[in-house]
Amino acid sequence: MTELFKLFYDCGQVSTDTRKIEYNDLFIALKGENFDGNEYAEKAIEKGAKYAIVDDQSKADNKQIFHVENSLVFLQKLAEHHRKSLDIPVIGITGTNGKTTTKELTAAVLSQKYNVLFTEGNLNNHIGVPLTLLKLTPEHEIAIIEMGASKIGDIKELTDIAHPTHGIITNIGHAHIEGFGSPKNIVKTKTELYKAIEEDEGRLFINVEDEVLIKHKPSSCPTSTYGLRENADISGEILALDPMLSFEWKTSENRKIKVQTQIIGKYNFLNMLAAICIGSHFKVENESIKSALENYKPSNNRSQVEKTINNTLILDAYNANPTSVKSALENFAEITSENKLFVIGDMLELGENTLKYHQEVIDLCKTLNLQGMFVGEIFSQLKDKNEILAFKNTEKAKEFFETASPKDNLILLKGSRGIGLEKLVKTL
Ligand code: ATP
Ligand code: MG
Repeated sequence: MTELFKLFYDCGQVSTDTRKIEYNDLFIALKGENFDGNEYAEKAIEKGAKYAIVDDQSKADNKQIFHVENSLVFLQKLAEHHRKSLDIPVIGITGTNGKTTTKELTAAVLSQKYNVLFTEGNLNNHIGVPLTLLKLTPEHEIAIIEMGASKIGDIKELTDIAHPTHGIITNIGHAHIEGFGSPKNIVKTKTELYKAIEEDEGRLFINVEDEVLIKHKPSSCPTSTYGLRENADISGEILALDPMLSFEWKTSENRKIKVQTQIIGKYNFLNMLAAICIGSHFKVENESIKSALENYKPSNNRSQVEKTINNTLILDAYNANPTSVKSALENFAEITSENKLFVIGDMLELGENTLKYHQEVIDLCKTLNLQGMFVGEIFSQLKDKNEILAFKNTEKAKEFFETASPKDNLILLKGSRGIGLEKLVKTL
């Protein structure tokens, strides 16, 4: 198999999707739920790929199409080989919430000084991580790799490919509980990153506000810390959420620097501090860090603020789990706007305690004294018991808003992607 690695260096880039093949690509045929890439190898060559790797012997011609035992393993081993051929820092980012945001912010900060490769979008799994690493060139000076996990062992698998030299776990909370089996396994999985960094004698960036993270921090690793506490290497405080976050951080020379961001969410404060902590470690100038953070604008329905003719929307319809919904609501409660309305969608993939987690969200809304409604089958099951306003799906909520047509409200839209709350934007 390793002999075939040299094919990669004869090609432009790696592709696993014949719809996006470009001239001179190396096509690797992966099997998905609905597609078998082996069926498309010939087509990839017709469309300009230089070589293809298949794991179905009958598709190989040994001229341009070569057979390996398992194409996915080939992709991962090739990525590992390529990463190891380049001696650069690789920062691995995992955690329950805030991985993508922290990755984007860190990339913005480090790009002020370095040529940075970073995970595109949310390509953070056993396929996305190797594909990202295969984009590394000798010109890159640092790589930032987002690592997602939905079951035990996932992070170990990714660190074995990416060999991170630096690591950060944004936080540990409750998500994908179905795959993990228990919250304990979530801790075990995420801290696989700490273990990998410890073994490779790398550096960790630690969120000192997360007790679970402090507890599991390997004692032998050099660390840089961030958080609210003054004794953290990078500390800071929130100045305002109106609704954009502004904050101040204390530099290592004890200087205070103000940052006016274009992002909402109290929770993003720690993501910002994480990026500052990493940027400072890599010696990016404070002024450059400030300007990178101030210029950063989120996209993809993550903490986006959108003004419509009638209302201001906080659009967070990309994903939802108990931890992120809790922080979104707590943040929303702290915003000093007059008319506030929440629209919270079901949190999917939570396993057997699904109803309990949804009940907790309902209780929290009451405790925080927030007005609004719930959308989805799960919240609807809890409707009568709690006397809440709940709609079975986004369509029904849309019909409601078409009649109610709220005006001059700040509206929080937060739910799992499957609920599709972004479809309400036009109506609101
Ligand atoms: P995914 O598992 O989908 O890759 P992620 O970890 O990459 O998610 P982001 O995409 O950065 O996370 O953020 C998703 C949502 O999580 C945000 O819109 C916000 O609601 C919430 N969130 C972000 N950062 C934090 C944080 N530090 N603490 C709690 N919640 C957060
Ligand atoms: Mg992500």
